[in-house]
Amino acid sequence: MTKGLASPKTCLRSVLIEEDGIHRLARGGGRRTMNIHEYQAKEILGRYGIAVPRGRLAVSARDAAITADEFGGHVVVKAQIHAGGRGKAGGVRFAATRDEAASLYEEFLGMRLITRQTGPEGARVRRVYIEEALSIAKEYYLSLSIDRKHARIALLASAAGGGDVEEASQGAFARVLIDPCLGPTAHSMRALAVSLGLESACRRMFFGMVQKLYEVFTSCDCSLLEINPLARLSDGRLLPLDCKISFDDNALFRHSELLAYRDIEEGAPEEFEASKYGLTYVKLDGDIGCMVNGAGLAMATLDALLLRGGTSANFLDLGGGASKEAVRKAFSLIIEDRRVKVILINVLGGIVRCDVVAAGVAEAIAEASTASYALPKRHIPIVARFAGNRAGEGRSLLEAIKDDVFPIRFAETMDAAATLAAEAAGAEGRR
Ligand code: GDP
Ligand code: MN
Repeated sequence: MTKGLASPKTCLRSVLIEEDGIHRLARGGGRRTMNIHEYQAKEILGRYGIAVPRGRLAVSARDAAITADEFGGHVVVKAQIHAGGRGKAGGVRFAATRDEAASLYEEFLGMRLITRQTGPEGARVRRVYIEEALSIAKEYYLSLSIDRKHARIALLASAAGGGDVEEASQGAFARVLIDPCLGPTAHSMRALAVSLGLESACRRMFFGMVQKLYEVFTSCDCSLLEINPLARLSDGRLLPLDCKISFDDNALFRHSELLAYRDIEEGAPEEFEASKYGLTYVKLDGDIGCMVNGAGLAMATLDALLLRGGTSANFLDLGGGASKEAVRKAFSLIIEDRRVKVILINVLGGIVRCDVVAAGVAEAIAEASTASYALPKRHIPIVARFAGNRAGEGRSLLEAIKDDVFPIRFAETMDAAATLAAEAAGAEGRR
């Protein structure tokens, strides 16, 4: 295993953006992150001593009614999905009685919620959160994120918080870069509070909250922590009414406690499946399934394809010590993707042995052709290029496979392989 090496997997897991036909590591918003639900984010805030509205995840309509009773009848019923804009889309509604809370629960559960952040297909609501309804005097926006250019955590705040914040002009936001040696300072936070128009009684609360949010952000390796709205209540309290947190995927290995928050049903289940086998798999838009070892080579392969007019259906890094099992899994993930017309295998044998990869592929092919759940027969040509450790043995193993669904061709170089794969995809498209 390659555990001891300066882990390319860690830095390259934050795959991929394509700019001007060149693939490179994603930066900023394109980084890989793990998102969690609002109620989970609030649970984390609570753990760091930040006051949040009383709330509970309802498990049934009856439970929703009981929760409403407990919170004095008036509650906010909130659909939990990994996207914002719920308020405007009807995913955040008020209930004045226990019965209303129960019927909103029924209505929400299983509903497909389409907000401006979900895309037209929307997101299915699988969890419903019930919160005490509070009386808002004013809504603010507050977020912490990473400014890569300045290598600082940036605090963004606005008095134009709430559902319309996306329409607010740039001038409505104040931005403060936080010095990592000092953290948020009383001085800069006071200035910020003043610019937000917070009255003096509220400024100390604001500073206290920012300090704790900063602690959450840094201790949990967040990539985004957004509170919108941060509400000034009629009774004078300052409370986060909504909270969105994203974590940097690359740091999750040191936060096993956060992994429990992962909601596999949200996001791409294949990516999660792959991660269990030590594979890094990311779905892309094209139709050529790629199986490559090493993230750098995987990216180079995508570029080579693009250069030859092909588009990749995925990024897949087998990793340093991929086992036959992992290869088999990788292959089945690729062929389960209905868009895949051609498979390109590009392996540079080093620690990974080409014959082990070939053996995994052979098993996966045997499995696909015998399985009772067999995929409807398709024709998926494979182009394979092996180089390095046991390349010859790997090739021999693949040559022995005679399967109508997966006819295999070989290429000596990466470019030749990319050319063949792109041509084959074009030909398959015309079939
Ligand atoms: P989002 O639209 O997905 O960002 O969902 P939010 O949780 O931000 O809720 C949308 C809006 O509902 C907020 O901007 C608030 O105006 C309102 N809201 C949420 N919780 C409460 C609450 O406890 N009391 C009141 N009065 N309004 C709330
Ligand atoms: Mn919100």
